[in-house]
Amino acid sequence: MKDFTRHPCFNKASSGSCGRVHLPVAPKCNIQCNYCNRKYDCVNESRPGVSSGVLSPLQAQEYMGKVLEKEPRITVAGIAGPGDPFANADETLETIRLLNTSHPELLYCLSSNGLNVPDHVDELADLGVRHMTITINAVNPAIGEFVYSWVRDKNVIYRGRDAAEILMERQLESVRRLKEKGVTVKVNTIILPGINDFHIPEIAEKISGLGADIMNLIPILPTAGTPFADLDEPARERVRELRAIAGKSVAQMTHCRRCRADAVGLLCHDRSNELGPVLQACSRIEPPKSDVGPRVAVVSREDMLINQHLGEAREFSIWTKDAHG
Ligand code: SF4
Ligand code: SF4
Repeated sequence: MKDFTRHPCFNKASSGSCGRVHLPVAPKCNIQCNYCNRKYDCVNESRPGVSSGVLSPLQAQEYMGKVLEKEPRITVAGIAGPGDPFANADETLETIRLLNTSHPELLYCLSSNGLNVPDHVDELADLGVRHMTITINAVNPAIGEFVYSWVRDKNVIYRGRDAAEILMERQLESVRRLKEKGVTVKVNTIILPGINDFHIPEIAEKISGLGADIMNLIPILPTAGTPFADLDEPARERVRELRAIAGKSVAQMTHCRRCRADAVGLLCHDRSNELGPVLQACSRIEPPKSDVGPRVAVVSREDMLINQHLGEAREFSIWTKDAHG
């Protein structure tokens, strides 16, 4: 029987006795936020810091077992990247299915930009997901267009105002539909000085109207190699002020640790350094021989077209045939 109060992020009272593990099964992303360098963890749920590896669903199941041996206080399995869980929906949902068979007592917690969430709300509810985070940085496309470089929806790339409109609609629909299913919803908003900070009260009001349970205002950590690399990190006083204003509309989270996409342990005692080698070892577990075929490496700017020069590539996408060819 799941005890939904045992979530250290949504229930601060349990944060000293219950922990979480982030399973990095979602490497790809379907949007480009102007504060994110995907060499680093997803800023939806992280501070910059490379993930120690990416896991397949089977590897994640194996890793989960090993983590629980070392840290039995883990009650939550989260998926927060390093890309977006629903740009990798097959892997995300398969991971939850596997964990439901081996560790049915776990709570699940997914963190997404929201673009592809509406397509999966019913299945998520059926799989027992009761905690979700959607990152919403604007509820007005005229502001959102400065936050995102592009959005990829059903193999079409959108830019500018169109991109912001599509993303915003899906994000708000995600919150509304998740609430209809009884899911506890947190909205993350990255505070971007001069870009969206003045707009945060409006975001808080909007999500409150849709039933969001809690808002997590996260000051930007400017990351090298991004359009927002030179933005100033907001001062603590400014963050407190914004939380006080937004708090008039929706409850505020104040104990978020901006965890890595492979965080593990209690919020007050992170053990990702110690368990990093276990994660790396699990990421090397070979799939059953029959699944391995010829592999092709490609490079892409937006994960859709093969359109990047090898010399510019920061990462390669490795493709292989599956059982369906
Ligand atoms: Fe980066 Fe996450 Fe934004 Fe994708 S959704 S670009 S991984 S911060
Ligand atoms: Fe919890 Fe914040 Fe860490 Fe997510 S990033 S697991 S909400 S403390």
